[in-house]
Amino acid sequence: MIPAQFDYIAPTTLDEAVALLSQHADDAKVLAGGHSLIPAMKLRLAQPQLLVDIGRIKGLSYIREEGGQIRIGAMTTHYQIESSARLREICPLLPEAAGQIGDVQVRNKGTIGGSLAHSDPAADWPAAALALDAELRAVSSKGERGIKAADFFVDLFTTALEQGEILSEIRIPIPKARTGQAYLKAAQPASGFAVVGVAVSLVRDAAGKCEAAAVGITGVASKAYRAAAVEKALAGASLDEKMIAAAAAHATDGIDANGDLYASAQYRKHLAAVYARRAITAASR
Ligand SMILES: Cc1cc2nc3c(=O)[nH]c(=O)nc-3n(C[C@H](O)[C@H](O)[C@H](O)COP(=O)(O)OP(=O)(O)OC[C@H]3O[C@@H](n4cnc5c(N)ncnc54)[C@H](O)[C@@H]3O)c2cc1C
Repeated sequence: MIPAQFDYIAPTTLDEAVALLSQHADDAKVLAGGHSLIPAMKLRLAQPQLLVDIGRIKGLSYIREEGGQIRIGAMTTHYQIESSARLREICPLLPEAAGQIGDVQVRNKGTIGGSLAHSDPAADWPAAALALDAELRAVSSKGERGIKAADFFVDLFTTALEQGEILSEIRIPIPKARTGQAYLKAAQPASGFAVVGVAVSLVRDAAGKCEAAAVGITGVASKAYRAAAVEKALAGASLDEKMIAAAAAHATDGIDANGDLYASAQYRKHLAAVYARRAITAASR
């Protein structure tokens, strides 16, 4: 449980941080809250020679509204999101997901950017980012670019971030009127991570039918995914119990589910349908 030797630098500007990453290429890793990286280093699953701590950079921790979007700085902690009264009002899925992450210590140190960049298959944020059609902003010495959440999660612990890129901001379209949202998860009792987590954001039309739905699912497969078949079944449908259950039954269509000592692939698939039904029901109230 002792990490390999490494150097540590805490730059105070983003420019300095990206310059360090481009200088040290393969050998450097960004340190945010450290709640995934430090345990991985202690187990020697990660052995960076240099840690670039972005925790001292001012202006990476904020929640604001701009250009019809909610903009969240990558270093914003889970707790800051959980406790935002404004987010509870305009995008309740965010505080709801944040509040279900780990325990108080984890939520106080862990960051939304660190969680998304880590792409743990059992993390909560990826499901929410997918259901909210988030755009992730990445900065490097070459400039800045936006990556849609749908393209961001590539595989187990692998994202579309390129070497030298720092995730700087998460942008989420401010949900329309008549939007209902929910995040529900079956938590692994020892770790708190999602065995299955389902994020739902749906818009009703004036008659109360589902105009559009977005469903992000984590915990089931090697990466979080949008449950396209569920979304298709919900579009234009009346949101009654029978209809919701029929749509939720498609939660793992085309998905290769993971199995482990705690939950088999078959059990995860079952849980995904159950939690999708519950989350859609909660979002449609
Ligand atoms: C006991 C425990 C329980 C937990 N339970 C849960 C849970 O229930 N649900 C859940 O979702 N998570 C859980 N976590 C993980 C926690 O949410 C972490 O906060 C999160 O996974 C990583 O965020 P971090 O800020 O700590 O990132 P770090 O650990 O600092 O970094 C993680 C990885 O992302 C990279 N990185 C970090 N920030 C950036 C950035 N801005 N740009 C580019 N790369 C970056 C790092 O180089 C590293 O590879 C738990 C952790 C612990 C220790």
